[in-house]
Amino acid sequence: MSIDQNVLKELIDLSRHLGDPARDLAILGEGNTSAKLEDGTFLVKASGKQLGTANENSFVQVHADKVLGALDGPELTDTQIKDTLKACRVDADCPMMPSVETFLHGYLLSLPGIKFVGHTHPTAVNSIMCSVNAKQAVSGRLFPDEIVCCGPEVVFIEYTDPGMQLSRILRARVEAFIDKWNMPPKCILIQNHGLICPGKSVADVETQTYMYVKTARVLIGTYALGGPNFFTPENVARIHTRPDEHYRQGVIGK
Ligand SMILES: [Zn+2]
Repeated sequence: MSIDQNVLKELIDLSRHLGDPARDLAILGEGNTSAKLEDGTFLVKASGKQLGTANENSFVQVHADKVLGALDGPELTDTQIKDTLKACRVDADCPMMPSVETFLHGYLLSLPGIKFVGHTHPTAVNSIMCSVNAKQAVSGRLFPDEIVCCGPEVVFIEYTDPGMQLSRILRARVEAFIDKWNMPPKCILIQNHGLICPGKSVADVETQTYMYVKTARVLIGTYALGGPNFFTPENVARIHTRPDEHYRQGVIGK
């Protein structure tokens, strides 16, 4: 199965941007990225590869139906998960293994309109995610551009074993979010772990990631002066549904 070279190039660019040391989002082998292809497969970062130095050989092409089938299937041991990941590869002779987070990438890429996913471990976000009050701290919205770029609410997931277990909990939480908001979440936060941004384009994934990192910095700052002054649900709903803010949402990142 051939790989769309334009999509591969976009995925390499996204990975290098997210892995740029100056942005402080992921270092060494941290984080992973993925891109949907139009033939029932997707590309996902290979285990052990670095985002910042990503190239044509940093990704593994996998069958989406096999990945999603495993997500629906029975509980698997660590060895069975490894064998499943191997069996999902389009090229059985590929020397690389898909990231252990391939299952959550496959699920998010199966959502309508989602074409790219970026997962990072930003220092600013993890300063909150590794705190005692993480869940409460991210329960409200702070400023209009946060809502425009990152959505009316984030999905928060308590720490859980990365891989299959995390992917299944993530799927349940994202489904609940879609039921409530009629759209996929823009930012998914995992306690003691990091940030996941699914988007329809590379520009969207970057916009969502950078704006949530800014939000995290602002949030940390609020705790120096008495804590966050969250918008009311009415404020959030108003900004989320304003036609001019929707226009802004469409323009930002283009
Ligand atoms: Zn991670």
